Amino acid sequence: MQINLSHPLIMENMPLKKFNCYRVGGNTRYLAVPTTNQELSDLLIYIKNSGIKYDIISAGTNTIVSDKDYNGVIILLSRLNNYILKNDNSIKVGAGVKLNDLINYSIESSLAGLEVLAGIPGLVGGAAIMNAGAYGVEFKDFVVSLDVVDNKGLLINMSNNDIGFTYRHAKNLEDKIVVSAEVQLLKSDKLELSKKRSDILKIRAEKQPLDKPSCGSVFKRPKDGYAGDLIERTGLKGYRHKSVMVSDKHSNFIIGCEKDIKSDDLYYLINYIIDEVNKKFSVVLEPEVKFIGFE
Ligand SMILES: Cc1cc2nc3c(=O)[nH]c(=O)nc-3n(C[C@H](O)[C@H](O)[C@H](O)COP(=O)(O)OP(=O)(O)OC[C@H]3O[C@@H](n4cnc5c(N)ncnc54)[C@H](O)[C@@H]3O)c2cc1C
Repeated sequence: MQINLSHPLIMENMPLKKFNCYRVGGNTRYLAVPTTNQELSDLLIYIKNSGIKYDIISAGTNTIVSDKDYNGVIILLSRLNNYILKNDNSIKVGAGVKLNDLINYSIESSLAGLEVLAGIPGLVGGAAIMNAGAYGVEFKDFVVSLDVVDNKGLLINMSNNDIGFTYRHAKNLEDKIVVSAEVQLLKSDKLELSKKRSDILKIRAEKQPLDKPSCGSVFKRPKDGYAGDLIERTGLKGYRHKSVMVSDKHSNFIIGCEKDIKSDDLYYLINYIIDEVNKKFSVVLEPEVKFIGFE
């Protein structure tokens, strides 16, 4: 079905490679980059009324985009609500702010908690939806509430308990777009927090292949054990498929090993790992990474 859109915020035929961690993806028929809640809400209503499909990308650090052209609208959130507002120990932050900018800001403000998440790339909206976490700490631990735009374009405030946060997921946000978050932190010592951030970044650099394109951990932690351990014990550490391979530094990372990464290579390798680990351990690994355009 050919649907033609005409809206001031919508651009036509834009490449998606720039908007995801592996630099993969074809062109999207339409790209929209809202900057305010009102723009996003109007846009959503317009897109819904047109019947065309749409998907969301914030920084794309946990997203694999198909190299096939996308026949719909990609709503890019990297310019949405780029503000940080502090009130005592609480911070209200827009979805389009980089998580690491928020972390640096909180450390500068002598506020503790988020420093453990230092080094997780992506935006605040992505961290909220994914309930990003590391070293026993999750984004949800600090969330008081989120402002979201629902699928009718209405702006609503959801408190932490209403969101249904679980491991790398937020059940009740499935049909919503996060536009800002309010986080509550604890007063602490700036120097101590900076030191903790440096220590965390050092551990990440030691354990993760940060010099190569990746999406971080590809698979969620299974019920028992670790995905990386199962992948390693299946003999797939360092396993290469064309333009991508299982990192030999961290087996739950798939890295690009050619300049031009193909999304089909990523898709194939992810499914190959799922099959091989299942054959050996009867464990079905669940991807943490999200896919756009692979239907
Ligand atoms: C080197 C590296 C290390 C990483 N380490 C970690 C780690 O330690 N812990 C961890 O949890 N993750 C890690 N990640 C994964 C990733 O950075 C996080 O999941 C991050 O929070 C994703 O944010 P994003 O803005 O890039 O989201 P995107 O990849 O753009 O989006 C992820 C999903 O959320 C949806 N989405 C994004 N924003 C919104 C919004 N505002 N409203 C509604 N839906 C939205 C998208 O449609 C998509 O389905 C790592 C990634 C890399 C590349």
